[in-house]
Amino acid sequence: MKYISTRDNNLEFSFEEVFLKGLADDGGLFIPVNIQPFSKEELDRFKKLDYTDLATEIIHPFLGSFITKESLKSLINKSYSTFREKEVVKLRKVGDLEILELFHGPTLAFKDVAMQFIGNLYEHYLEKNNSEINIVVATSGDTGAAAIDAIKNKKNLNIFVLHPNNKISSVQRQIMTTGPAKNVFNIAIEGNFDDCQNIVKSMFADLQFSKSINMSGVNSINWARIIAQAVYYFYSYFKINSSDKISFSVPTGNFGDVYAGYLAKKMGLPIDKLIVATNTNDILHRAISKGDYIAKKVSETISPSMDIQIASNFERLIYDISDKNSEITKEIMNKIKVNKYKINEKDLIKINKDFVSECINEEETLSTIKKIYNEYNLVVDPHTAIGVGALRKLNIKSRSIVLATAHPCKFPLAIEKAINKTEPLPDELNYILNEKEHYEILDNNVDKIKNYVKEKIS
Ligand SMILES: *Cc1c(COP(=O)(O)O)cnc(C)c1O
Repeated sequence: MKYISTRDNNLEFSFEEVFLKGLADDGGLFIPVNIQPFSKEELDRFKKLDYTDLATEIIHPFLGSFITKESLKSLINKSYSTFREKEVVKLRKVGDLEILELFHGPTLAFKDVAMQFIGNLYEHYLEKNNSEINIVVATSGDTGAAAIDAIKNKKNLNIFVLHPNNKISSVQRQIMTTGPAKNVFNIAIEGNFDDCQNIVKSMFADLQFSKSINMSGVNSINWARIIAQAVYYFYSYFKINSSDKISFSVPTGNFGDVYAGYLAKKMGLPIDKLIVATNTNDILHRAISKGDYIAKKVSETISPSMDIQIASNFERLIYDISDKNSEITKEIMNKIKVNKYKINEKDLIKINKDFVSECINEEETLSTIKKIYNEYNLVVDPHTAIGVGALRKLNIKSRSIVLATAHPCKFPLAIEKAINKTEPLPDELNYILNEKEHYEILDNNVDKIKNYVKEKIS
């Protein structure tokens, strides 16, 4: 499969380039030139596969000559061998709800599903290519932990993780910063997630710097993450065994996970609506419901992994609705930069064929956690509660699955506030509570971060 950048579709790239670079040099995002949907026969055959075989079938067409199908299969098996569920994810039916639990990986959030896979893709690449790669990534809490777990102790790889100081839950931070691996560096930035993201973006944009350290990115725009996430949409659809279209409610921040659902739809999965469920950082809700893509100040919520204003992956959708015109996409991205993008009516109609949205505020999040607990004796995390809350507020006709993106024990304060009880960590993670944490607090200043990185790798 060949890829182009959303901002210049004249040049073509291989999967290897797309994977290692993450972001195109022109600032655009990579997407396939063309996506061939699976046939009805292929989908019927996929129904019978277990998770890792299904993942192999879905992911392989995107990888081209990067890896053989056999090696990919064993790579995927290895990636998911650390999960607490044999089938990687778990579809749980409680009352009127169907909840897809994606948090059974080592760091208790759905990010593990893609990140464990990515860690092994790097390893596969480095087995054939003698080089050292430095990964730099910004996190709103869960990406960092998942990336660290996937990369720690791997040869010829270092990872630098930037998180907003004091703006993630303490359990989120402890999972990231405990466990001393020589190739892991945690940095707490005096700022919010968007500041962290901006630092990483400008480090990439400084080509002299990024090339000199062989810098690579694993944030949610990395195409390898998207394709790994598309798999569970297929898996859960087959598990439900419906002949009708179904919808998915997706707690959304950077628009990566829900975009993976959109990709699954383009690959032929009969999805009705993708529900973009946001917290009060509701730029995507305002965009999808009214065309109003205007960033406001980030507010801190009890669902910190979604405290984001600029949803990077949205650019991929913009490219699509602009009829794959990279000039128009570029113009729109320039408007977004100065906060002047209003989606026109024609484009909004196109978007609403696939996406609807809802915003769930703090009070509604807490009351949803409480309601689900009272109704079904099930504790869901605040992000998942937003997915449930959005689905219940909207009037969706089709059968719907809510993506459960994190384990509730990651957000003990929110859970306690909602239902007055705490949710324990799984036994194998209890140790993090007493372990020494390793991180440095640095200013929101890109030059300081660059110097820090250079110092650590020299
Ligand atoms: C990252 C994250 C999200 C948001 O996912 P995006 O792909 O950024 O939209 C939602 N919930 C949890 C728990 C997360 O960690």
